[in-house]
Amino acid sequence: MKNLKQTLIAEIEAKKDEISAIADFLLKNPETGYKEFKTSAFVRNELEKLGLQVKTDLAITGLRADIDSGRPGPKIAIMGELDALPVPSHPFADQQTGAAHACGHFAQLTMMLAAAKVLVPVIKELSGSIAFIAVPAEEFQSLEYCRKLIADGKISYCGGKPEFIKQGVFDDIDMVLLIHAGHDTFTPASFNGFCMKQIIFKGRAAHGGLSPWAGINAATMARQALNMIDGQRDTFNDKDSVRIHGIISDGGNAVNVVPARAELELQVRAKTPEAVKSACSVVDRCVKAAAMAFGGSVEIHNLGGYMPYQGCPELNAVHAENLKELCGGVLGDFGHRGSSTDMGDVSMLIPALHAYSGGFSGSPHAKDFVMVDFELACIQGAKLLAMDAVSLLGSNAEKAKAIASLPKIMDKKTYFEYKELLSSSEEFDYDQA
Ligand SMILES: [Zn+2]
Ligand SMILES: [Zn+2]
Repeated sequence: MKNLKQTLIAEIEAKKDEISAIADFLLKNPETGYKEFKTSAFVRNELEKLGLQVKTDLAITGLRADIDSGRPGPKIAIMGELDALPVPSHPFADQQTGAAHACGHFAQLTMMLAAAKVLVPVIKELSGSIAFIAVPAEEFQSLEYCRKLIADGKISYCGGKPEFIKQGVFDDIDMVLLIHAGHDTFTPASFNGFCMKQIIFKGRAAHGGLSPWAGINAATMARQALNMIDGQRDTFNDKDSVRIHGIISDGGNAVNVVPARAELELQVRAKTPEAVKSACSVVDRCVKAAAMAFGGSVEIHNLGGYMPYQGCPELNAVHAENLKELCGGVLGDFGHRGSSTDMGDVSMLIPALHAYSGGFSGSPHAKDFVMVDFELACIQGAKLLAMDAVSLLGSNAEKAKAIASLPKIMDKKTYFEYKELLSSSEEFDYDQA
């Protein structure tokens, strides 16, 4: 298999100009979640050029193309995310929409397509099969648009991967590989999951100077709720990595009116599904207490979120061996990350690798997050994905078979019950009037 890996590395080297043109097109055509129409059409065309049948319209813009060795064995997925972020000041932002690849997802798609280019011709030398999957909407952005899509029955989740799970796109996949843009070449062991919460306090309007006692101040309830949440921070166990952050999205309309309505948007993050659930119940307690104290009411809307990510150590080891073989590099293990990704959802059900490539500088999601080294950002990752596929599916796919038979973290039924919990709403009314 060593020879096959060397062939694939040489093929990627030979196709560098084509690969660079792909990266360039994707970088300069950024689109936000569930609106990645140009990006999706481009990826489809690239896969069709390789002679593949492409399944399209998966969760609006997602797509998938499979190749089969003709020999039994597991099915691995090589995946890329389609979406960009609204960052209008980014140097490669779309002038009309303000969307920009400030999370570098164009590099993931480039790596996936480059790996496809070299794996398609040699699939008969492997066992099992490979699915190339482009998935929409990782960023949990444009929530208004997303909620409209949900209301119209077009999707059920704001994240593309949960939506793919619901649609059964991953049902026949045994393991998933994805390499994300970053500053270094490493694999995190885990990421936080989160629940998105919209909290609406309702009180009663009154003249702020003439008769404030006749009102019930919803903005005061929101402020006190935030104070109580802040006061809880040292009650969370360090091992759970709880982070609660958010904004006051509505604090009233006019300065001389006691606000009748106030709204908080909060994200509650933690390292395990249980810890997210328990931190959410603390937040719920605080917002209910604030409404009760001032005799108002509060609506608690859980607007979904992502599961915590648990990387598969065996897949990380395959990736580390290939980095060593490719360039003598040592794969960093950057432990736990406080941020979240919907790869978390996938990792609960299927062994997953969410690695990072280097080659970017600046702060992720900010205007200065840009590719500075194409070799590291796209070429190294493409080679590693191709090599990972050979390690997993070469030699009768022994390695992939071992990983596919590992116990899963969660079954699909438990997963959907949890997702249901993350989408529930409740109202508590303490207004005695
Ligand atoms: Zn991002
Ligand atoms: Zn990202």
